[in-house]
Amino acid sequence: MSTPSISVIIPCFNEQEVISETHRRLSQVLKAGFSTYELLFIDDGSSDNTPLILNRLQKEDNCTRVITFSRNFGHQPAVSAGIQHCRGELAVIMDADLQDPPELIPEMVALLKHEQCNVVYGVRTARRGESWFKSLTAKLFYRLINRLSDVPLPLDSGDFRLIDSEVIRAFRTLPERRKYVRGLISWIGFRQVPIYFHRTERFAGSTKYPLRKMLRFARTSLLYFSHKPLRIASSFGLISVGISLAFILWIFYLWMFRPQELVHGWSSLLVAVVFFGGIQLLTIGILGEYLSSMFDELKGRPEFIIRSGHETNFEPPVEEEENAHR
Ligand code: UDP
Ligand code: MG
Repeated sequence: MSTPSISVIIPCFNEQEVISETHRRLSQVLKAGFSTYELLFIDDGSSDNTPLILNRLQKEDNCTRVITFSRNFGHQPAVSAGIQHCRGELAVIMDADLQDPPELIPEMVALLKHEQCNVVYGVRTARRGESWFKSLTAKLFYRLINRLSDVPLPLDSGDFRLIDSEVIRAFRTLPERRKYVRGLISWIGFRQVPIYFHRTERFAGSTKYPLRKMLRFARTSLLYFSHKPLRIASSFGLISVGISLAFILWIFYLWMFRPQELVHGWSSLLVAVVFFGGIQLLTIGILGEYLSSMFDELKGRPEFIIRSGHETNFEPPVEEEENAHR
C-alpha cells in the first residue's frame, strides 16, 4: 500500500444532504494540488442515507475510504478513529458540512512547509450562520477552558487543522479513551501555527451538535485538561482558616480591651465552626491533589515527547528506543 501525501479526515453523522458536495469539492481541490491523497470518511452511526452515499463514493472513487461505526459514538471518537487509521504523511481534520473550506487546504500545506511547523490550526475570524447562542457560548467556552487549562489552548479554534506525521505518530501513542482532540494536539506540542479563515454557513442540513452534546464536550475538555476544579476546595479552605485566625485576633483584642462587649460562648463557637470548616475543606483539597495525580497516571499520557532527529548523539539502549515516544 503506498502512502498518500495527504489524508483528509471527515467525521459524518447524518450528513446525507452535504456529503456528495463535500466529496466533490475536496476531490477538486486535492486532485489539483497533490499527486496522491485519501479522503477518509468516518460514518459515526448515521441513521439516514449517509452510509449508502459513502458506500457509493467508495466504489466510484479509489481515493475514498470509509470507516463505519457500530453506533453513534460522537464527533471526537470519530476524529480520533480517523487519526488512528489515516495513511497520509499529512492529515487534515475537517467537518463534513463545508463550514471548514476545502479550498484552504493547499494554503495550509504551503504554510506548514514555509514555516517548517508540524501543525497548522484554523482560527475562525467570523462565524456566519450560527445562532447568537452558539456564538456566545462558544466564545465564552474557549476563554474559560483556556483560563482553566493546564496547557495553553488556542482561542476560537475548532478541530479544523493540518497535522504532520510526527504529530500523528505521537497522537497514536496516547492511550486515554475520552479524547478532546484539539486539546491533545496542543498538548503534543512541536511547532504550531495559526491560519485565519472565515467560517461560512453549513452547506445544508442542520447542526448535529445539540446542547446535550455540547455540554458533554465541554465537560470532557474541562475534566481532562484542568486540575483547577479540584483545587477550589483548597482555596476556600485557606480562606476559611484565614478568616478564623482573623476572628481569633479580633476576639483577643476584645478580651484585652473591651471585655464588656464579649458575649459568653459566642466567640469559641464561631471560631471553632469557621476553623474546622476550613480544615475540612483543606483536607478535601489534599484528596483532590491525590485524585488529580491518580487521574494523570490513569490517562497514561507520555511523560515527554522527543522530536525526531533531535535526540542525543549516541545510540539509545534498545528498550529506550522502543519507548522513544513514551
Ligand atoms: N458529528 C459526528 N458525530 C456526532 C455529531 C457530529 O461525527 O455525534 C460530525 C458532523 O457530521 C460534522 C461535525 O461533526 O461533520 C461537526 O458537526 P456540526 O457541523 O453539526 O456541528 P456545528 O458546526 O454545528 O458545531
Ligand atoms: Mg458545522
